[in-house]
Amino acid sequence: MYLNPGMRNQLYSELSHAVEAWKPAELTKDYTPGDRALCLQLEDGTTNSLPPLRNPDILVGENDLTALSYLHEPAVLHNLKVRFVESKMIYTYCGIVLVAINPYESIPIYAHDIIHAYSGQNMGDMDPHIFAVAEEAYKQMARDQRNQSIIVSGESGAGKTVSAKYAMRYFATVSGSSSEANVEERVLASSPIMEAIGNAKTTRNDNSSRFGKYIEIGFDKNYRIIGANMRTYLLEKSRVVFQATEERNYHIFYQLCASSHLPEFKTLQLGSADDFHCTNQGGSPVIEGVDDAKEMCSTRKAFSLLGDDTYQMKLFHILAALLHLGNVEVKEISPDNGHLTVFCELMGVAYQDMSHWLCHRKLKTATETYVKPLPKVHAVNARDALAKHIYAKLFSWIVDHINEALRSAVKQHSFIGVLDIYGCVKSACVLSLQHVFKLEQEEYMKEEIPWTLIDFYDNHPCINLIEAKMGVLDLLDEECKMPKGSDDTWAQKLYNTFLKKSDLFDKPRMSNKAFIILHFADKVEYQCEGFLEKNKDTVNEEQINVLKLSKVCLFLFRSGQTLNLSPVFQSYFTTVRGVKFDPLSRPCPQFRNSLHLLMETLNGTTPHYVRCIKPNDLKSPFTVTTACARNNRIRSICYSPVPVDRWTYQEFFNRYRVLMIQKDILSDRKQTCRNVLEKWVQDQDKYQFGKNKIFFRAGQVAYLEKLRSDK
Ligand code: ATP
Ligand code: MG
Repeated sequence: MYLNPGMRNQLYSELSHAVEAWKPAELTKDYTPGDRALCLQLEDGTTNSLPPLRNPDILVGENDLTALSYLHEPAVLHNLKVRFVESKMIYTYCGIVLVAINPYESIPIYAHDIIHAYSGQNMGDMDPHIFAVAEEAYKQMARDQRNQSIIVSGESGAGKTVSAKYAMRYFATVSGSSSEANVEERVLASSPIMEAIGNAKTTRNDNSSRFGKYIEIGFDKNYRIIGANMRTYLLEKSRVVFQATEERNYHIFYQLCASSHLPEFKTLQLGSADDFHCTNQGGSPVIEGVDDAKEMCSTRKAFSLLGDDTYQMKLFHILAALLHLGNVEVKEISPDNGHLTVFCELMGVAYQDMSHWLCHRKLKTATETYVKPLPKVHAVNARDALAKHIYAKLFSWIVDHINEALRSAVKQHSFIGVLDIYGCVKSACVLSLQHVFKLEQEEYMKEEIPWTLIDFYDNHPCINLIEAKMGVLDLLDEECKMPKGSDDTWAQKLYNTFLKKSDLFDKPRMSNKAFIILHFADKVEYQCEGFLEKNKDTVNEEQINVLKLSKVCLFLFRSGQTLNLSPVFQSYFTTVRGVKFDPLSRPCPQFRNSLHLLMETLNGTTPHYVRCIKPNDLKSPFTVTTACARNNRIRSICYSPVPVDRWTYQEFFNRYRVLMIQKDILSDRKQTCRNVLEKWVQDQDKYQFGKNKIFFRAGQVAYLEKLRSDK
């Protein structure tokens, strides 16, 4: 028996300890079924009584956590440990959510024959697996004639990208060989490219995605794969010019350096990654077990599958140019600055113009325009802003290019979207998921369904304060446009607008340069200093104009709108309970819009959830650190949404008519459905009757489908 200090009894709250999450206790009196409480003694001699919470043995190790009689944190943790550590099973259901624990070891459960074993099967008949979720989505797409989405969440290093890739591989395998040759292969080829340009080594994950991705796999009317389209979110641009200790820039830069000896790359004038400021800051240029030169071969192969080789070379030119740009000392630009010369050659721009605009800036007043030398620190910032801007352009160009290559000539009938939410986008997506969940709950309420499904903190008021029209961020944007705007005037505007008007906003008593936002159970004070400068777009327009004259990189600037243009990188910091925001790192308005678009798309699909769990911080195979697992990770499972399958009475009637005998069928469809369900489903908690629809707990529709096919 384990006691969670502080959960059941305040007496033990002081025992809540990061490592000792649970305290062993002994029963002081035998428990007999029917007893209302357990009498316990902890090791320190204190006693306590608790309601019996342990699950019967028969349920431990169940593959669906919702089957547990008691779904609470220790029970979940215990059950997952039994499955994961003892039986090496990484997947478990929690209702409709697939919980995937990162094994940190390659396990033989993803081969083709396993994909085929899952194909066409019912979810309930098979062991939990990402393939089972993918199959379910695939099946429901056809059965319900509805688009589907698989939403993969979890912290950095939990296994989201790996899971998303397996889901895609599943679709490519079961639905392949459509009219167009090797379309599956080409859809899968998008992954190595996106990982090369959007993933990097961080302290938490050697292959961390630094952007969010939603990829829609398109199917024709026979449910064969015909193409794909992806949208990306919030690329971490700052990484292009800055990496923390032990971290790396995007993989592609190291891949290029590792291939610099190849004849076709001689013109790039690269060498070791140690020689470039943009790739050596982390002091850790090698990833254990990864050969960057080999990875470059995969990247190039994928590029070749998705387009012509000329563009590929152009992209490498620009990427190499960025490495050289990072080495340009802006204050010491002489007519023969080596790195700048190479940068200009590779980018196809005039040295004179570029060197001039790296150290000068054009200023416009109402009546005249004049040119001013830039102070060194501003010039360095502008150089870095330029590098980030070019990289972001290149990134979106590649995304567009891949989409173009994966666009189908055949009419798309339906799609399955796979959402891979990366660490920093998490909270933004929490918003989006919250939105989806909220809609779910609204539907349950509308249908007068009594299930309480989601214990999700509603932080909309807080998000509104920050993001809504004339919210904190809007006011920041406005202030940036004011000729005399400053951090202080912005603070003043915030006070005037929100003080005493919003419960979530406050001002520190001793300061006129800070404000407080009340995030869920968590007051955060933000210092205003530096906000305006960081929020201004520091990309020097004249530098861009120089680039636009180049034949080499003009294509990057040709397309109209691209995302990620905000000068400010945008991470939100999340806790499961609420969202803290970092105004210095916030989404740009385009992002806010694109997030709304994503929400709309998700709302139009049937969602399937995969929650990835990182079981320890050391990347040790099949090991769970209790403190690690407790840290919001396991707990969140208990709050997963549980049932979602729903049908209108008529839909249900049409589908399961074969299960009805003449006597069951009445003109009242609801009563008809009731008759049938009472006959076939013993446990009445497995379904609920709403006003217009029936709701099923997970697995029931699969069960009914089986009955139907057995008929
Ligand atoms: P981030 O948010 O940083 O992008 P992530 O959740 O996408 O993180 P992944 O890159 O998918 O994390 O996984 C991290 C690493 O964990 C992988 O590179 C792989 O080594 C290991 N891993 C994840 N899932 C599995 C799995 N199913 N089998 C074996 N190893 C896995
Ligand atoms: Mg990832």
